[in-house]
Amino acid sequence: MRETAILYITDSGFRLAERLKSFSPDAEIVKYEPAVVEDLWRRSGALVFIMASGIVVRTTAPLLKGKRTDPAVIVLDEAGKHAISLSGGHLGGANDLARELAAFLGGEAVITTASDVNGLPSLDLWARDHDLVVEDWGLLPQIGTRFVNNGALRVYADSDIDLPAEFLRVAEPRFADVVISNLQNAYAGSSACAVAGDDCSVETCRLKGQLYLRPRNLVIGIGCNSGTSQDEIESAVRQSLDEHNLSFRSIRSLATIDIKGNEPGLRAFAEKYAFAFRTFGADELNRVEGLDRSDVVFKATGAQGVAEPAALVAAGTDRLLAAKQKKGNVTVAVAEKGVRSEKETRGMIRIVGSGPGNLDHITPAARNAIGRSDVIVGYGTYLDLIRELLHDKEVVSTGMTQEVNRCRKAINIAREGKTVAIISGGDPGVYAMAGLVFELLRSTEEKIETLPVVEVIPGVSALNASASRLGAPLMHDFACISLSDRLTPWEMIEKRLDAAAAADFVIVLYNPRSKGRAGHLNRAREIILKHREPKTAVGIVKGAMREQEMVIVADLGSMLDTDVDMQTTVIIGNSRTFVWNHLMITPRGYENKFTI
Ligand code: SAH
Repeated sequence: MRETAILYITDSGFRLAERLKSFSPDAEIVKYEPAVVEDLWRRSGALVFIMASGIVVRTTAPLLKGKRTDPAVIVLDEAGKHAISLSGGHLGGANDLARELAAFLGGEAVITTASDVNGLPSLDLWARDHDLVVEDWGLLPQIGTRFVNNGALRVYADSDIDLPAEFLRVAEPRFADVVISNLQNAYAGSSACAVAGDDCSVETCRLKGQLYLRPRNLVIGIGCNSGTSQDEIESAVRQSLDEHNLSFRSIRSLATIDIKGNEPGLRAFAEKYAFAFRTFGADELNRVEGLDRSDVVFKATGAQGVAEPAALVAAGTDRLLAAKQKKGNVTVAVAEKGVRSEKETRGMIRIVGSGPGNLDHITPAARNAIGRSDVIVGYGTYLDLIRELLHDKEVVSTGMTQEVNRCRKAINIAREGKTVAIISGGDPGVYAMAGLVFELLRSTEEKIETLPVVEVIPGVSALNASASRLGAPLMHDFACISLSDRLTPWEMIEKRLDAAAAADFVIVLYNPRSKGRAGHLNRAREIILKHREPKTAVGIVKGAMREQEMVIVADLGSMLDTDVDMQTTVIIGNSRTFVWNHLMITPRGYENKFTI
């Protein structure tokens, strides 16, 4: 990812740029002068201009080359009210960046690309995300216009790629605006092909204005004599593909035997087109069954064949699209790899912390993760708190004690190839869902590569939120103990309370009360009182960062368990914690070092 540069003119522009430091810590902040822009343009992924858009238009106009290579250009007004995605909206990433900046600054993103404004997916981004090569970029604008005008795009795909709802799958290439295929001519063999046999050429069969997207799913198995030139290899591959009506643009990788791993012509060919290059040992190649064996190859390499088994092993399939063909010094075979991206085949689970309460305390990363998920799974109360973020989402809500059920559901949905966000209040890894998801995935005993991809997105936990309301009680070592004995034996909880109290840890109590366990807090208090003075400070925070928030500062001797409910966190000070101005502060120890 190339870096972001932030350009400013005035002092208040500079102050806004400084504020953006926490949004983008690696960003380079530069005072604007027309002369500095060209260099930044070349080496940055995104340019954020804090100034009038007229200046930006005039400065960047001569530098614009094309949307595939230009950086994202964002204009911010000095008050941070508007983040305008000026150019590089899709592939440059300006739309996404403008939205993120606006969310960070509490302003509004100004997005003008037609697909976004009409709520349609953008074809170029979709193609990029699905590893599809756009064959003719010149056609994209007219296809985009057709898409916006019709509200749907007619797509023919000869593989099982998932299409967004706005793409209309058509049964024959001739009805399509967009053809997704690795065949040079997707009409060949179809009843719509007017010109049969040898007379059929790609050109005669193409409809004007039809865009081909090429899935990068061809694996080329190659064997060659030592010293074969790059040109000879490339032309052998091109010829073989032509003969099989396959597109060169669909090549994903080259595969061969390990002893050819440093063959200069092969390596140069792979590098020229940025093809992945994979090599396999003779043993591995010999494990592939059902192929013709060649004694000559076996004598030379120890493998019964190279091109065919290498293509099959690398593609993870047992069917060749093109059996081996010998062309001069080169043998070529072709296999097809599944076109679905890793995320689509494996599915994805994001375990997202939504923070303690209202939307002010959810992180931009968590918002973003929710925005990018297809399905949201969570417990009703937490989902209610972030309702605004869920309006266009499929939501699966379950009861509070249904964690296992909830995680199982999420895993099953992810396995359909979807991205699921599991929402936990606070942090998802603190008495919440993250661990459970991993436990359930582990219990399947399946290979990691076939399980959904998991990402944990942290949140502000109840202890952070409550501590902030109380002042600074967690400035020194603390222990966090849940009083819930639903999953932990009560004896164990008592043991930990006793140990933490004896070691003079500040103690944070989660789950101080729930139905049927009213006495737990009193019992905890008794245990702690064995080691601590009755005047030890205690903070009680109910519903931190929520509408009915309540904060009480008391002491161990006089605290009342009637003050706690299921949304309460209790923090018990250590022997040094003091109360000042109704706040609870645990000293860090500076007073020993300096005179304060
Ligand atoms: N994952 C959550 C904790 C879930 S356990 C987190 O990181 O915060 C549930 C317990 O968290 C509650 O019983 C209560 O003790 C605490 N809690 C959750 N939200 C809270 C809030 N807004 N204010 C105070 N305590 C809260």
